[in-house]
Amino acid sequence: MSASSTNSAPVAIPISSAALDQLLVAAVAARKKAYSPYSKFRVGAALLLQDGSIVEGANVENASYGAGICAERTALSTWRVASREPSPVVAIAVSSDLHTPCPPCGICRQFIREHCSEQVPIYMPFAPPKKQIEKTVEGVAEAEKRSGEEAHQEPGREWTPALGHGEDTVKVMTLEQLLPLSFGPESLQRPAVV
Ligand SMILES: [Zn+2]
Repeated sequence: MSASSTNSAPVAIPISSAALDQLLVAAVAARKKAYSPYSKFRVGAALLLQDGSIVEGANVENASYGAGICAERTALSTWRVASREPSPVVAIAVSSDLHTPCPPCGICRQFIREHCSEQVPIYMPFAPPKKQIEKTVEGVAEAEKRSGEEAHQEPGREWTPALGHGEDTVKVMTLEQLLPLSFGPESLQRPAVV
């Protein structure tokens, strides 16, 4: 496993509110590109790169169900082969039609682990049922007293950003929170008992 096969972005890169909004909008838009005739479960993913560009992905299913691929892996595969040394991924967003956050599945968490820093934030925008929106908005009023920059960089929290496409609420967690004590490329380089 060569060092060049991993892509550990610097930890805690500040992400501007504008870049984050762009990322969330892209993840929501990407889900419309899903090919999910069997499950009808559409997922869109978007990667924000250090150079400011965005890479999208959506789930692509198959009549042989196990051959389908998730949105996160579609996006990361596109990113990985786009150039020899792609700009590091500094944030990920995942969107579905659920009224709750749609976290990456176990396989995708491991896939992300291969290519991103464990501190990469994973944003999960969703549209809660109306009742929950009212509840969230109360919390947002409090959150807005703090700076927007601070709010979206606090893993584990939910908030409602000012997005152009509606009422989405966002939950954010780091990869490390979603996949603690993980196995990664460097694990293969640790001394082993022979
Ligand atoms: Zn997955």
